[in-house]
Amino acid sequence: MPELWMPGVTVIASTRTMPAMRGTGEKIFTHHTMECGYDWSATSAANYLIREAKEAHFTFHPQSGEIVQLIPADVGARTLVWNALTKTPTNTHGTIHMQIEVIGYANRPWTLDLTPAGLNAWNKLMDYLRSWGIPDRWVTGRRPPVFPGPDVPKEMPMYGQSGHSFHAEWQDNNHGDPGAIADPWSFTAGTSTKPDYATAVVVQTYLHLMGYDLGSWGIDGSFGAVSLAALQQYRTDFGLPGTGYPTVDEIANMKDENVAKIDTIIANQEAIKTELTVLKSGMTALSALGTLSTLPEDIENLKQYIDTKLVTVAKSDQVVYLHEATTNQFLSLSADLEVIETKIEELQKLQAQLKTVTNDLGGMVANMTTVLGDDHDQLKAAIEEPRTISLELT
Ligand SMILES: [Zn+2]
Repeated sequence: MPELWMPGVTVIASTRTMPAMRGTGEKIFTHHTMECGYDWSATSAANYLIREAKEAHFTFHPQSGEIVQLIPADVGARTLVWNALTKTPTNTHGTIHMQIEVIGYANRPWTLDLTPAGLNAWNKLMDYLRSWGIPDRWVTGRRPPVFPGPDVPKEMPMYGQSGHSFHAEWQDNNHGDPGAIADPWSFTAGTSTKPDYATAVVVQTYLHLMGYDLGSWGIDGSFGAVSLAALQQYRTDFGLPGTGYPTVDEIANMKDENVAKIDTIIANQEAIKTELTVLKSGMTALSALGTLSTLPEDIENLKQYIDTKLVTVAKSDQVVYLHEATTNQFLSLSADLEVIETKIEELQKLQAQLKTVTNDLGGMVANMTTVLGDDHDQLKAAIEEPRTISLELT
């Protein structure tokens, strides 16, 4: 038989009589979070659980790597609720059913904060679990969901099935822990530094530009669970390694990707602006000649149309701001990106429309030859000489 107490860890043994197991060969390991901050230690957590008669087999601190064992491997814990009426087992389901309370909160997967010391200790725990026949798999095939995971089915693992489980999926229990932790048998240490405000804004902006959902928080400069989930999805989508907070290299790669995209947008915007400015000059020249009354009546509508579009382009100057903000590490980015993206779409449509307008205007000018007579050369010169139009941000 493997060791009842994990070698090399602190033992704070509970003197309480623990429930006997009722299993038929199952080897289970259930994950919990303590719902307390990292200022707690595994020792203080163990003492708390004993005082409250809620003993788990282990307490663990993801940053210090401290592991405390409270009860031996072959008895049941007291962490799960069970229904005394139906007598459906929870803590006593399985031949071996060890449980762990990890320091941390379910709404922020503690695996994000795992340090190299924590990982080292954790891997020893995994080896110990394997020595008891607990396999590297989720016993129900389900991974722990993002807290609070209201849609998790609540059921006992099938008899005869072994593997890892989590509090949120047990029948008769209404807790949502441990949150969306990574697969326990393949952890990597996270980066230990949470991004500061400016860095968080940069990374969130890149994620947003690439289409990742930042939830209702949006780009708020606070790199929480939703941002981490978006970042992890990005890594998965691009086959990139890593967990936890973004590294400097990772951010640089994201930046390259998006600066190229923004540069294309800027180039399109500049082309449209030039076209519009030339058109506007032409219209102004026509007005100055005082010949509008003799021109086709559509010309007035066309003029208004161009004015409207100039305003649109002026608003899209926010894209330029975005671009500058990108190269300046987004230190003061406050533009509404949703608005900008809508404007970009409008601009792309506008670019296509302008081709038509330009052709129409060319046709009109040609027709004007007969109407304007000698003035035609003067008009032509005015149109070909673009004037400076100041675009005001509205
Ligand atoms: Zn729990």
